[in-house]
Amino acid sequence: MKALQYREIGSAPEVVTVPDLEPGPGQVLVKVTAAGVCHSDIAVMSWPAEGFPYPLPLTLGHEGVGVVAGLGAGVAGLAEGDAVAVYGPWGCGTCAKCAEGKENYCLRAAELGIMPPGLGAPGSMAEYMLVDSARHLVPIAGMDPVATVPLTDAGLTPYHAIKSALPKLLPGSTAVVIGTGGLGHVAIQLLRAMSAARVVALDVSEDKLALARTVGAHEAFPSDGEAAGRIRELTGGRGAAAVFDFVGIAPTVEIARQAVGVEGDVVLVGIGGAGLPVGFGHTPFDASVKAPYWGSRSELFEVLDLARAGLVSVHTETYSLDEAPLAYERLHEGKVNGRAVILP
Ligand code: NAD
Ligand code: ZN
Ligand code: ZN
Repeated sequence: MKALQYREIGSAPEVVTVPDLEPGPGQVLVKVTAAGVCHSDIAVMSWPAEGFPYPLPLTLGHEGVGVVAGLGAGVAGLAEGDAVAVYGPWGCGTCAKCAEGKENYCLRAAELGIMPPGLGAPGSMAEYMLVDSARHLVPIAGMDPVATVPLTDAGLTPYHAIKSALPKLLPGSTAVVIGTGGLGHVAIQLLRAMSAARVVALDVSEDKLALARTVGAHEAFPSDGEAAGRIRELTGGRGAAAVFDFVGIAPTVEIARQAVGVEGDVVLVGIGGAGLPVGFGHTPFDASVKAPYWGSRSELFEVLDLARAGLVSVHTETYSLDEAPLAYERLHEGKVNGRAVILP
C-alpha cells in the first residue's frame, strides 16, 4: 500500500510503497478515508537528529478517520464497515488518568513506549492504518470524512484548552485567539458556541484574519506590537479573561502576557518553543499559564456532537496522497486557509 513517510532527518516527506498491514490480537485495521495535516508534523520534521524521539521511517498523520476493514483476535464491539474516527493520544488504558478518559495525560505511555499514530507509531497518511485498541475508535456514522477528520486534533485540542477556561468566559469577558490557522479557526467557533465572550482574533496574514471574521470573531487584527494595547483598549483596560496562543513564539507569548487581565488564563497551545514565567512583575495578579496537550476521549465525543449540531465546521482543502508533500509545503508557507486534508 501507499504511505506518506518522513524517512530522513531534514528531508521532505515522501510517498512510498510499504508492506500491507495485518491486524494483530486486539488491533483494528482501518481503511483511511481522510487524514489531516497538522503544523506539529512540520515541527517534528524540523527537529535535529540528536534526541529525535521517534523511529524512522515514520508514516505521518495523527488525524485520521476511516472505515473498519479488519479485526484482530479478541476485538469486540466493532464490525467491518463501521465508520470511525481515531482518538490519537493513545495511553495505557489502565492508569488513573486513562481511567478518566484522559489518555492524553497517560501516566505510563512514555515508560511503556506507547506513541500516537503519526507521532511515533505508523499514522493515518496511508491507505490503511492499524489502531492498537477498539478503545481508540469513536463512531462517526453519517458524518463526512473530510469535515470530520480535523476535529480529532484541530477540534479536540482547542476544545480541551477552552473547556478548562470556561468558568472565566462570562458575559462581558473577552477571549483572544492568537494564530487563526487549523486549530485557531476552530477555536473561534468553539468559543462562540460555548461562551458569551467577545472573541478577538490575531494573525499575521490578512487571509487568515478574513477567515477568522467569517467563522465568528467579533474583532480580527494584526498580531503585532500594537495588538495587546488594542485589546486593553477594547476591554476598557480590563484585559482578556483568556488568551489562547496557537503559535507559542516569543512575540505571541509577549502579546498574551500584556493582553491577559487579572485572574485571566494564558493558554499556550502552539509549540513554538516560548514559555511565560508567572509571578509578580511578570503576569497580572492571579493570572495562570497553562500548556495543555490534545484532549480526552470523552471530549472527542463532545466535539463530534458540536459538529453534528452544526456549531463547528472546519474549513478544509483536500489533496490526494501523492499531493501530500505539496500540502505540507503549502502549510509551511502559511498558504493553507483552514485545514489541509489528505484523501489516501
Ligand atoms: P497552522 O499553520 O494551521 O496555523 C498557525 C497560524 O498561526 C497561521 O494562521 C499563521 O498565519 C499564524 N501565525 C504565525 N505567526 C504568527 C504570529 N506571530 N502571530 C499570530 N499568528 C501567527 O498550524 P496549526 O496546525 O493550527 O497548529 C498551531 C500550533 O499548535 C502549532 O504550533 C502546532 O504544533 C500546535 N499544536 C499543539 C497541540 C497541543 O496539543 N498542544 C496540538 C496540535 C497542534
Ligand atoms: Zn496535531
Ligand atoms: Zn494510562
